[in-house]
Amino acid sequence: MKKVVSLCKQRGFVFQSSEIYGGLKSAYDYGPLGAELKRNVMGEWWRDMVHSRENVVGLDASIIMHPDVWRASGHAAGFSDPLVDCLVSKERFRADKAPRPNPGDALPITCPDKGVAKDWAEQIEKRFGVALERDGNVLGGLTAISATEFGFFAKGAATPAKTWPFRGYVSPTFGSPFLSDERQFNLMFRTALGAVDPMQDVAAALAELSAAGDLAAAVTAQYPSAVADAGSAIAKAIASGERAKLIRAVIETITAPNMAYLRPETAQAMFVQFKNVMDSSGMKPPFGIAQMGKSFRNEVTVEHFIFRSCEFEQMEMEFFCEPGTQKEWMAFWKEARMSWWQRYATYPESFRFRQHAKDEMAFYADDCYDVEYLYPWGWGELEGIASRTDYDLGQHEKHSGQKLRYTDQEKADPATGKKPWQYKPFVIEPAAGATRAVLAFLLDAYHEEERRTATGEIEIRTVLKLHPRLAPIKCAVLPLVKKDGMPEKAREIIARFLQAGVNAKYDEKAAIGKRYAKHDEIGTPWCITVDGQTLTDGTVTLRDRDTTEQVRIPADEAVEQVRSRLAR
Ligand code: ATP
Repeated sequence: MKKVVSLCKQRGFVFQSSEIYGGLKSAYDYGPLGAELKRNVMGEWWRDMVHSRENVVGLDASIIMHPDVWRASGHAAGFSDPLVDCLVSKERFRADKAPRPNPGDALPITCPDKGVAKDWAEQIEKRFGVALERDGNVLGGLTAISATEFGFFAKGAATPAKTWPFRGYVSPTFGSPFLSDERQFNLMFRTALGAVDPMQDVAAALAELSAAGDLAAAVTAQYPSAVADAGSAIAKAIASGERAKLIRAVIETITAPNMAYLRPETAQAMFVQFKNVMDSSGMKPPFGIAQMGKSFRNEVTVEHFIFRSCEFEQMEMEFFCEPGTQKEWMAFWKEARMSWWQRYATYPESFRFRQHAKDEMAFYADDCYDVEYLYPWGWGELEGIASRTDYDLGQHEKHSGQKLRYTDQEKADPATGKKPWQYKPFVIEPAAGATRAVLAFLLDAYHEEERRTATGEIEIRTVLKLHPRLAPIKCAVLPLVKKDGMPEKAREIIARFLQAGVNAKYDEKAAIGKRYAKHDEIGTPWCITVDGQTLTDGTVTLRDRDTTEQVRIPADEAVEQVRSRLAR
């Protein structure tokens, strides 16, 4: 890893962002070679996912979307209200919206179905040490003892066999009291839309409020309608009696109308534009919408160079299919995605699948796999392939009030037996990291080889065995020496490459051996050398990066030879 990071800097693949100012943690700039490599990785993904398939189309959505998109997806909830995770179902929800049972109430956990009930019962037994009673899809035996304690009562028992601290509420969908602490999440980058800086209004409001003796009274005078609405952040803050909470609520209220977020994933745009894409392109399920581009997350930990950064790029596709067919499409996309990764790798065995355990998946997902890569620190995620049911379209229907459905005129609704069948498609989502892919391909390609020089010494050759289609520079054109008409001939050849749109580079600096070594190190698959013989018979040498073997070919064929090798 250290060697790859150092090569990235020295050769111009990846630099620390704003290095001359001391660097910005977790932000990276892709230098001349890195920019090419990243473009090539993303180009190959697009070629495979969109251009080589009839049933997938592309999308290039804006990074800033309507703030309601992030409310529907669940990403925005944590900004103004604390979020809690259910430790059993993984449901994330707002604490203030959760049902609050009274002391003495039973706390049944209502699972999605019997099978899930069995899994969750096992999970609870393992983690919390109690065997809940299972009745169909309901797990029983838990009771709220007081506002701060709940317990497990075996059938007929008057005293609890075990107790835990109670948060006073249960998870809204399943009724589970096994919950994480409340946390303020700040995953998304916030920004303000509009030319007028909202800080001016914030400062003015705070100047006025801070002069007031009774803060709550001053806020009530300024925001009477918010105070009257018991559900508003200001009303709740006044009720809490906490000064800091009230000031925050005022700031949130002032800034809310202009608040916008940088997207934390590219995926949501495909759900939001599902209907527009379907109507305008004539696509019908099964079909996919693909998008690649920047995403932003305030990660709690940033690590391992470009593996996890706050600004990164993703390559995602939402594949919309008929409910009930998601299993076969999951199998299809798993195979397609793994074969894509392995096609560009020197070591295909460094890529594997890991299926998510039930307790690891979001409650709406019905299957999920990670494509993992064997990084120097161990196996880690490269891509997630999730079967997301119709959850996302359902959420956007709920929040937008728009129907996001497909009407199949030919088929009868399985529930009613009547045509047509109008349904929310189920979704398979292969979601890969593009910048993480750059790291994986660099690690896979980095080689050090021992070889004997002409004088018999052992030397180390560093070679980046990038797949030619990923390599930043496809071909270097080198005059053997800087005289005798060789540079002129080499310039003629390079001009032909550039005209043909093949990224080739002319290079006449340093001895030929040094130039070969440099191009090996940056992954250039072929070097074409103009030598004395070129001037007499019109042939050049074509050197292969991996084998270092050289063949003579007519200079006129150089472009075609490289192009045909690239097409392999
Ligand atoms: P992780 O578990 O590593 O945080 P995730 O499960 O949150 O990833 P997804 O939301 O599924 O990731 O995003 C899909 C892909 O986007 C990931 O497989 C990864 O390749 C990439 N990705 C996610 N977060 C980052 C990040 N902070 N930096 C670089 N790539 C990322």
